[in-house]
Amino acid sequence: MSAGTILLIEDEMEIADLLRMYFENEGFTLSHASSGEEGLKRLEGRNPRAVLLDIGLPGIDGIEVCRRIRGASEVPIIMLTARDAEVDKVVGLELGADDYVTKPFSPRELVARVKAVLRRSEERPISPDTVEAGGFTIDNGRREVSTPSGDTIRPTAREFDLLWYMASNRGLVLSRAQLLEAVWGYDYFGETRTVDVHVRQLRKKLEGLPLETVWGVGYRFDA
Ligand code: CA
Repeated sequence: MSAGTILLIEDEMEIADLLRMYFENEGFTLSHASSGEEGLKRLEGRNPRAVLLDIGLPGIDGIEVCRRIRGASEVPIIMLTARDAEVDKVVGLELGADDYVTKPFSPRELVARVKAVLRRSEERPISPDTVEAGGFTIDNGRREVSTPSGDTIRPTAREFDLLWYMASNRGLVLSRAQLLEAVWGYDYFGETRTVDVHVRQLRKKLEGLPLETVWGVGYRFDA
């Protein structure tokens, strides 16, 4: 049984042949594309478990390919870089690559890195990272909210934590004490009014947010 497909986007045939041998020995199927354009096409059809992506490619380069993959997919990406300067670029641009190796690399090490990345990516919690309600999208990864009119709002850290907690418990009535405990923690000695102040700020920033005040109790998000 195949351990899954790894997509290699690399224009040097020698590297591709070498990696094919190593990955196939480990039970993977290696799908090789020699340009970014071809790689992007294959990504759709083959549904690989991970992508090995060379930066120096003819046509659209690996940086741009990485950006386009990330626009559409969460597949783990390992960048193959030729120089330390490229490593700086990969890290600095925050492209969303999961790891990188610098050429010349040992194929054995690359296989180990791929396995580690696969383990990590498959251990990721499957709880949703966004909640959509009333035309708002609350994005827990980016910690920002897009509004029905298309604006992106970044609440303060505490406001966001409060909003995310309520959105994750949508439809439930949450008391002020409960919210205080969940968002501010057991050790917090503040008053429950603190919750109201933060809710007021959220409502001001996010006009039309489906957040209801439940009189005498607390709040309910998107009932
Ligand atoms: Ca290259």
